[in-house]
Amino acid sequence: MWVVAEHYKGIIHKVAYQLLAKGRELADILNVSLTLVILGDKFDALLDEFGEYGADKVIYVKSTLLKDYYSDLYVKTLTELISKRKPEIVLIGATPTGRDFAPRVAKRLNAGLTADCTGLDIEKETGNLMQTRPTFGGNIMATIRTPTSRPQLATVRPGIFKAVTCEKKKIKITKLEKEYKEKDSVAKIVKIIGKEKKKINLEEAEIIVAGGRGVGSKEGFKLIKELAEVLGAEMGGSRVTVELNWLEQDRQVGQTGKTVSPSLYIACGISGAIQHLVGMQNSGIIVAINRDVNAPIFNVAHYGIVGDLHEVIPVLIEKVKKAKLEE
Ligand SMILES: Cc1cc2nc3c(=O)[nH]c(=O)nc-3n(C[C@H](O)[C@H](O)[C@H](O)COP(=O)(O)OP(=O)(O)OC[C@H]3O[C@@H](n4cnc5c(N)ncnc54)[C@H](O)[C@@H]3O)c2cc1C
Repeated sequence: MWVVAEHYKGIIHKVAYQLLAKGRELADILNVSLTLVILGDKFDALLDEFGEYGADKVIYVKSTLLKDYYSDLYVKTLTELISKRKPEIVLIGATPTGRDFAPRVAKRLNAGLTADCTGLDIEKETGNLMQTRPTFGGNIMATIRTPTSRPQLATVRPGIFKAVTCEKKKIKITKLEKEYKEKDSVAKIVKIIGKEKKKINLEEAEIIVAGGRGVGSKEGFKLIKELAEVLGAEMGGSRVTVELNWLEQDRQVGQTGKTVSPSLYIACGISGAIQHLVGMQNSGIIVAINRDVNAPIFNVAHYGIVGDLHEVIPVLIEKVKKAKLEE
């Protein structure tokens, strides 16, 4: 079982740690080893650490040119590695980078790829990977197997699984040096432009206060913002609120937005459509405020408040402020 790590500016993307946690669980069911694959440069000092996150082995393909994401070199390197070492299962983060190179690797290997998975398991009878993802516009969840081709490749959304640490153990490290030159790539990286605007870090937020159509207007989001501020939370919302231009796109939670798993998710005026739920149902505690007692959001909520959010939220804000003063 392989997990392929992605990195940016020398930092491993957190989805790699999350996939190691799930990979460990699946590898134990299959009784196979779990290998982390890194294509990059200057990671030598970091490799031992992956034992703490569940890996048994690391394969590190090192080249100065793999420091940044060269699409064609990544595809070539990973395809060669898989062809030679023949893993049964390869898990990759469904980040923009993973979504770019995973299907190209799958095509070159003539293997299947299940993109954007939200669940993984092993089929007991056959040992096949069960890959679950929303389909038909998110209205149903499909579980997909690829029994006739190998490897089984899947991309998985960040935030679906939780990274876990385990006891530090000695891991086997295989380092492969590559002498790539710029001419080996059809593309040339001229400049990497980072995001200039302030980053909204919804995926790492501990608390999220999210608003839906029930908030009523852009103006109404001031109330959501106020609750978020007193709680030290990030603000999120349903797709409708983004479409109505009440909220920035980066704050959308759900199938076509971010997948989040904060300790506390407060859904205000959100009905709980499946496309929203797939993005937040792994949250620690879900509180729903909705005036419709039959709203589906109450099926996933740990605490439900049936009422008008314009009446409920000001009370909550006052309660939180008072509790803070008493601390
Ligand atoms: C392919 C596809 C992808 C999608 N991706 C996403 C996605 O990523 N994220 C997403 O969120 N949606 C997504 N959707 C849209 C999704 O299907 C729903 O339409 C959307 O989530 C509904 O948003 P909502 O809950 O804010 O609005 P509504 O469904 O209209 O619900 C509003 C809720 O607010 C309640 N309410 C109204 N007034 C008040 C009040 N004053 N106080 C308290 N409660 C009140 C109502 O009872 C209702 O339950 C997608 C749809 C498709 C087809």
